Amino acid sequence: MRRIYLDHAATTPISPKVLEAMLPFYNELFGNPSSIHGFGREVAIHVDKAREKVAKAIGAASPQEIYFTSGGTEADNLAIFGVIEALQNKGKHIITSAIEHHAVLDTCEALEKKGFEVTKLPVDENGVIDLEVLKKSIKDDTILITLMHANNEVGTIQPIEEVVKIAKEKGVYVHTDSVQTLGSIPVNVQELGVDLLSISAHKIYGPKGVGALYVKKGTKLKSLVFGGGQERKIRPGTENVAGIIGFGEAAEIATLSLADNERISKLRDKLIEGLLKIEDVKLNGHPINRLPGNVNVSIEYIEGEALLLSLDMEGIAASSGSACTSGSLDPSHVLMSMGLSHQTAHGSLRLTLGKGTTEEDIDYCLKVIPEVVHRLRSM
Ligand code: PMP
Repeated sequence: MRRIYLDHAATTPISPKVLEAMLPFYNELFGNPSSIHGFGREVAIHVDKAREKVAKAIGAASPQEIYFTSGGTEADNLAIFGVIEALQNKGKHIITSAIEHHAVLDTCEALEKKGFEVTKLPVDENGVIDLEVLKKSIKDDTILITLMHANNEVGTIQPIEEVVKIAKEKGVYVHTDSVQTLGSIPVNVQELGVDLLSISAHKIYGPKGVGALYVKKGTKLKSLVFGGGQERKIRPGTENVAGIIGFGEAAEIATLSLADNERISKLRDKLIEGLLKIEDVKLNGHPINRLPGNVNVSIEYIEGEALLLSLDMEGIAASSGSACTSGSLDPSHVLMSMGLSHQTAHGSLRLTLGKGTTEEDIDYCLKVIPEVVHRLRSM
């Protein structure tokens, strides 16, 4: 049977060049980068090179602005908790949006329990925040605005440069979660103007369990973990060396191959056009300002889980609803915030294309999905 992977927003297959770069760090290059001897120093040089590659991929002014973490989740936690720990004497108000990833939303909820005030900006039917509402939400005691660069479920891209302009006038830090954008659209911290930015290797054909937080020089941030001197004491603990090497390689490839996304967005548009021909199917997310690989549609009169299982049986790996809440049957908080009904949010289908997606894959989907929908609706 044909097997088609259309869940690249969840994770991507590791690229062969990335794996090749990592392998020596599981055997001959095993030294601890903090050791003073040759075994350690040799590995430290490679970690520094990877840091340079990641810094270059996001346009950071210096590799010292990159702090490696265990992934996007930890980077988001470090950005938010790290800033509030450093600035809590200045204020206790944070601004985010209703459609953030749980790594941000749940962190903000934990802060609310500690007495911080969190404003969750609403979004329009396409998933975009309103800049006027943002402006009005900033108060004297606002210390951080954390807004995702693009949404993982519906692919909507937020106007981060505009957010930064508004925030800078009031002297408020801006953090953005770029986990879904790196490798898909240009990500340049200096052009965006953000103070903090989260990225993750496994979304860009790199290894799982490694990511980074970009922290602009001079930004006040406290560590959440205590221990040795690694990552300039902001994130102590022996580094995930092989992971970091793979991340560096993946980040370099991602920026060099940004042009591939033109091909991917053409396939995305073909898939969207074909799916919208099915009766009672609606596109979710912004029609234009969306990630090149993201397709998200609501299919009325169908249960999301039944659809996913049926598609899996036809060899199509897709995702639905709360894409990042494994095992949850709850409808997506993203779609509900965009004004979809409980029922419609439940029947959503997310197909995310990647480097390996071919025209034949899309043709197969456009043959199989309408058949499956028809079958489920007639049951
Ligand atoms: N933020 C966003 C927008 C994501 O899509 C994800 C992964 N689903 C994360 C954060 C978490 O990243 P990681 O899996 O590396 O912890």
